[in-house]
Amino acid sequence: MVRTEKPEKCVSCGVNLVEKGYVRFPCPQCGKEIGRCVSCRHQSNSYKCPGCGFEGP
Ligand SMILES: [Zn+2]
Ligand SMILES: [Zn+2]
Repeated sequence: MVRTEKPEKCVSCGVNLVEKGYVRFPCPQCGKEIGRCVSCRHQSNSYKCPGCGFEGP
C-alpha cells in the first residue's frame, strides 16, 4: 500500500490539485500539510485538517 505524504486534493472541496495556483501549507496545529485549490483559496473557504481536525479560515 502506498501512502502519499503530499496532499493531492483540496481539503475543502476534494478537487485534485492539478491546476496552477493551489497552495500547500502546514497545519498551524499539527504541521501536517494541507492542500487547497485556487477557488477555495479565493473564496476563503474554511478547511479542516485531516490529521488533527483543526478548522481554520
Ligand atoms: Zn477546493
Ligand atoms: Zn492538523
